[in-house]
Amino acid sequence: MPAGRSRNPVGSHVPVAGGLHSTGLAYARRIGAEAVQVFVANPRGWATPAGRPQQDEAFRQACAEEGIPAYVHAPYLINFGSHTGATVERSVESLRHSLRRGREIGALGVVVHTGSATGGRAREVALRQVRERLLPLLDELTCDDDPFLLLESTAGQGASLCSRTWDFGPYFAALDAHPKLGVCLDTCHVFAAGHDLTGPAGMHRTLNLLVDTVGAGRLKLIHANDSKDVAGAHKDRHENIGTGHIGEDPFRALMSHPATDGVPLVIETPGGEEGHAADVDRLKKLRDG
Ligand SMILES: [Zn+2]
Repeated sequence: MPAGRSRNPVGSHVPVAGGLHSTGLAYARRIGAEAVQVFVANPRGWATPAGRPQQDEAFRQACAEEGIPAYVHAPYLINFGSHTGATVERSVESLRHSLRRGREIGALGVVVHTGSATGGRAREVALRQVRERLLPLLDELTCDDDPFLLLESTAGQGASLCSRTWDFGPYFAALDAHPKLGVCLDTCHVFAAGHDLTGPAGMHRTLNLLVDTVGAGRLKLIHANDSKDVAGAHKDRHENIGTGHIGEDPFRALMSHPATDGVPLVIETPGGEEGHAADVDRLKKLRDG
């Protein structure tokens, strides 16, 4: 394995309609992805579909053999801070499904959005509910090959429970800093939330803040996305690497910070297969150059 790859495998979210292995991994190979992220359910729905054992096994085996770390992104509708009982119930079932499917396909982590305090409720009330409903799911992760649960902060729209780095503090505290808990840092989201990643120290300063809040070893995955909007705009609009308001330099800086050593990068950028291949290539050059 080339040195750069072991420092930061660079990959992509990949489409899987048609099969995790036959569609998803084939796509990953075509764009040169060294890491993959997949959905195991419609990201905009609550369905909890069964897997396809042959596809699951072929995917799991190929990832293991080729050293491709795999991740699951849980559906977007999940919100453990919701004031609506039905939404919380569905969130539990949906995330439990993603975690189970994650284990079945050999995923190292399952990414879930940190959600928001809807209905005008106080953040403390919502976080108490996060504890009551999410901590039991973490406690179900008792096998060695169970995935980590990776919290992804948001761009800070509405009553976000977690958008700035320090917001992970109360969130981790609500979950007793469970050993199976980690962080997925989305560069577009954290930039939109108000952390300017540009300039000579922007990225390193932000990563230092994150480590100060959650401790070493918790950053498990990076969603590497540029941003169509300026820092602090609270808009979640991803852009291709180097062509948005973040620019290339912060991504180079990202891959030189001690907290990201060994942490995979996954892009979630526009442009379809061509755009993804170009972004993966660009990040590899920033890493290796
Ligand atoms: Zn993301």
